[in-house]
Amino acid sequence: MNEKVQAGKPLTTQPSLSLAELKRLYSDEDSCKALLRDMRWPDGVRCPRCNHALGDRVYNLSRKFHWVCKNIECGGRNGYRFSVITKTVFENTNYPLSTWFEVIYLMTQSRKGISALQIHRQIKSGDYRTAWYMVMRVRAAMKDPELKKLLGDVIEVDEMYHGGKAENMHRSKRRRLALVGAKGKVAVIGAIARKGNVVCRMVENTDTPVLDSFVRRVVDKDKVELVATDEHSGYRLLKYGYPHEVVKHSAGEYVRGIVHTNTIEGFWSLFKRGVMGSFHHVSKAYLPLYLAEFQFRYNNRKDPDIFYKVLAGC
Ligand SMILES: [Zn+2]
Repeated sequence: MNEKVQAGKPLTTQPSLSLAELKRLYSDEDSCKALLRDMRWPDGVRCPRCNHALGDRVYNLSRKFHWVCKNIECGGRNGYRFSVITKTVFENTNYPLSTWFEVIYLMTQSRKGISALQIHRQIKSGDYRTAWYMVMRVRAAMKDPELKKLLGDVIEVDEMYHGGKAENMHRSKRRRLALVGAKGKVAVIGAIARKGNVVCRMVENTDTPVLDSFVRRVVDKDKVELVATDEHSGYRLLKYGYPHEVVKHSAGEYVRGIVHTNTIEGFWSLFKRGVMGSFHHVSKAYLPLYLAEFQFRYNNRKDPDIFYKVLAGC
């Protein structure tokens, strides 16, 4: 099987929910709030501040989906009032939850990502900044909490450079990039388990300590059978501890048996096409968020409930 093609078309699973179903099921605020309540507190409502359960000095208020906690930690008699959206990304927004749900849905179902501008058009938000704000908050909810070890026999590691190509850019953009870095390029390191998950992160440089320590953090040396990279010298110390093989791209070698980096390169091209097509330009400050979003979507590509998973992260 061609790994590159597979990496380029990760969304092979039909979502458990269609957009039409989403709009029908969660068209009004009450049904959205009921879903959030059930996902947030499957075993019954709890105070978000002190964690006491409903009934344990936590009371229903007459206003739906609102409660008050009168435990000592939460102010005793005066109490602490909270609602189903307290301490979620939906707090302090004037936008209906049904709109938020639609934004999350669109962001999870589009393979290459979707820009704030596309969201703005789709949900017909009055102000582009609103769409941008919503998209950034959802993106933050798609972040994996920690750098986990990859599972798989064969792991490919590669670095990617984002930005640059200043000669093709408009002069004003070029000037802005000049402030970012000498060449306007930012390095990203990634590792992918074939048919498994990907981890990637922005790095300050691609020197040996950076590349080497990244691999040692995400690849379990007792479980892996092959670590494949290109001939970048930053990987030369991996032979100490890892079954490391190199493809010599400079010599025109791209595949030698099972040794190749096509899967991770497929992920990079998915990312680049997504960024070029949907986002046009991603600054260094936001790059980690976009990487997290692409990583999340890739790692959950076979999960038909990806919409609910992101919602849970919110
Ligand atoms: Zn409380």
